[in-house]
Amino acid sequence: MQTVLADFVRDTPEGSEADAILRKCVHCGFCTATCPTYLLLGDENDSPRGRIYLVKQLLEGAPVTASTQAHLDRCLSCRACETTCPSGVRYGRLADIGRKLVEDRVRRPVWERIRRRALAEVLPRRSLFAPLLALGRLAKPFLPRRLAESVPVPSPDAGARPAPRHSRKMLALAGCVQGALAPDTNAAAGRVLDRLGISLVEAKHAGCCGALRFHLNYQEAGLADMRALIDAWWPHVEAGAEAIVMTASGCGVTVKEYGHLLRHDARYAEKAARISAMTRDLCELIEAEFDRLEPMLKKKAGARVAFQAPCSLQHGQAIRGTAERVLARAGLDLTPVPDSHLCCGSAGTYSILQPELSKQLKRNKLAALASGGPDEILTANIGCQAHLQAGTVLPVKHWIVALEDRLTG
Ligand code: SF4
Ligand code: SF4
Repeated sequence: MQTVLADFVRDTPEGSEADAILRKCVHCGFCTATCPTYLLLGDENDSPRGRIYLVKQLLEGAPVTASTQAHLDRCLSCRACETTCPSGVRYGRLADIGRKLVEDRVRRPVWERIRRRALAEVLPRRSLFAPLLALGRLAKPFLPRRLAESVPVPSPDAGARPAPRHSRKMLALAGCVQGALAPDTNAAAGRVLDRLGISLVEAKHAGCCGALRFHLNYQEAGLADMRALIDAWWPHVEAGAEAIVMTASGCGVTVKEYGHLLRHDARYAEKAARISAMTRDLCELIEAEFDRLEPMLKKKAGARVAFQAPCSLQHGQAIRGTAERVLARAGLDLTPVPDSHLCCGSAGTYSILQPELSKQLKRNKLAALASGGPDEILTANIGCQAHLQAGTVLPVKHWIVALEDRLTG
């Protein structure tokens, strides 16, 4: 694609990066076939190719309108288009750059600004989110049905966490919402890894990975969250932590990009690159260690489960089939899931900001997940877990919880 960038952006790092991405796009349209919003709405401007063109126009100095912003807002950042693109167009980065520029130029209505600010302030802070969640659960019986449905159900008892006792140590992130919504995930991960001779450690003062604010277009605040997390982790890295294990793929995809996002930051570039290089999704780690886990597994067949592959895992981190292989090797019976490449509609704060599209995607995803008659649904990301659980009576869990159930003793 030919580009002629406008003066305001041509010589900036974002301009150069966006230009290189745009030039790779040959406008073939293959990506439209896997874009959830294009499939639902049928509007070229709600497809990856259409959005790429909108960002190109913006970078070339064309007027930007609320309509441009609406089409970019409707994008889930699921990155299914990246998986499909034969030319390797990094759509996700282009969308981030475009969204920031649009945000600077188009003023949102007051209510919209308040809502986005509230989300950016509350969700990344566990000290605010956890009490509000507890309050919501108390008030749930008295709330109107639609509102009550959005209050997540309490998770099962997380159980005890093993004290660090092994020489092999790895870092885990409690996460901003995961710690309150599903504390059983990291507890189960800690116990499984403990049996493999690995101690899972959560660093004190480790907060949000930065994804929430970054993708709400408070990009500087998101980058500040990333730097703060690097600072919290760094003493453990220097003390010999072997890896950073992510139990929420939505956080994992972001931490793996720290090196790129902070590459121009003289103070943090090197540390960020090291943090990204050390980061692995839990399924990558468990697969690598599986031979040692195998003798601890129960011999009888496991439950029928449907695995929901989060976009941040299969598209963002390009990890496909790994968790499924682990679960199958552990004796669980995986049911088929049609259209497993399509987003469930959770997508960070998308379910709150784009409720109608999100609900349609959730309905479609739950129908696909239930089609094989599973006993439960397993996932690898807390956002998808809470979002899907609100629409089904089937239990929705992190896959590590189901794997731990398969262990003897
Ligand atoms: S992003 Fe890729 S698949 Fe989509 S139009 Fe451009 S080159 Fe084709
Ligand atoms: S990230 Fe997802 S929703 Fe956005 S354009 Fe790509 S496929 Fe469509």
